[in-house]
Amino acid sequence: MTNESHSSLLNFIVDRAHVGIFVINRDRELVLWNQFMEIHSEQKADTVVGKNLFEAFPELPKKWLDRKIESVYILKNFSFTSWEQRPYLFKFRHNRPVTGGVDCMRQDCTLMPVKDDNGEVQYVCFTLFDTTDTSIYQLQLQELTEKLREMSNRDGLTQLFNRRYIEENLDMEFQRAKRYKHPLSVILSDIDFFKKVNDTHGHLAGDEVLRIVSQRLQNGLRNVDVLGRYGGEEFMVVLPDTSLEGARVLAERLRQAVEETPIEAEGASLNVTVSLGITELREATAGYQQLIAEADTGLYQSKENGRNCVTIFAPPR
Ligand code: GH3
Ligand code: MG
Ligand code: MG
Repeated sequence: MTNESHSSLLNFIVDRAHVGIFVINRDRELVLWNQFMEIHSEQKADTVVGKNLFEAFPELPKKWLDRKIESVYILKNFSFTSWEQRPYLFKFRHNRPVTGGVDCMRQDCTLMPVKDDNGEVQYVCFTLFDTTDTSIYQLQLQELTEKLREMSNRDGLTQLFNRRYIEENLDMEFQRAKRYKHPLSVILSDIDFFKKVNDTHGHLAGDEVLRIVSQRLQNGLRNVDVLGRYGGEEFMVVLPDTSLEGARVLAERLRQAVEETPIEAEGASLNVTVSLGITELREATAGYQQLIAEADTGLYQSKENGRNCVTIFAPPR
């Protein structure tokens, strides 16, 4: 192959490659602009070659990019930019569906020194890679991971936090309240005669009752209170910065909220009530499990006392 045909072959490849390729000189004037750059910038080589890069493309992050270019001239070495640090240099459109959540073409970029015979850098050659697909996949993966994490904390039937999460949360609140000497209360609640709902109206009705009771409990709470499904038809509320008296008032409100309106399920109108037990953190409380055990003792007392009521755990003297 002659030198001439060799160089025209190279020109052809540079022009048609599916990456952006452009070259600037020390004055930041464009000396080469390939087809990829033409298409995506909607600027022909004829119009930009000979122009200053930053004048032709004012949207470029000039200060940052100029320093990067200068470092290639001084260090005589490659330099890189990644879409993960800086999503793009040029604001190019991409042809992916907008649902990808990525607004314009993501780009990785390499700055390559082009040296003369004396080893001095004469030009900087940029190669621009379209990394939009990768960034869309990564975004989707992040969203999915977040969703899975959220789902792993939730109970499928009621969408309340599950037992594992609520116990972890109580443990954390316990440590915090103990350290800062803040109040902390716990409510444990259990649906009365729930077995009868299932036996009389079927499991689906039972499930619906669980969902509605969950909603009523949730609606009665403040944002900082954390409600979870502790067992089959048992619910726990963790009340940070709340004294026993505050917890008692709230528990009473929750009891009323459940009792107030009959629940419609599977064609039946059901009068549903809950029993509740409450306790608060004391100097002598050994761990979060003790709070659960005490609230459970209060709950048991409420069942003994005829259900549909609130009982405060009485610590032994
Ligand atoms: P008490 O007033 O003493 O609490 O009586 P109870 O009937 O509510 O108590 P028990 O513990 O005997 O019954 C709880 C029932 O809850 C038994 C179980 O079948 C039912 N259950 C637990 N989880 C679910 C669920 O996810 N869906 C339905 N439909 N029922 C459930
Ligand atoms: Mg029950
Ligand atoms: Mg129970």
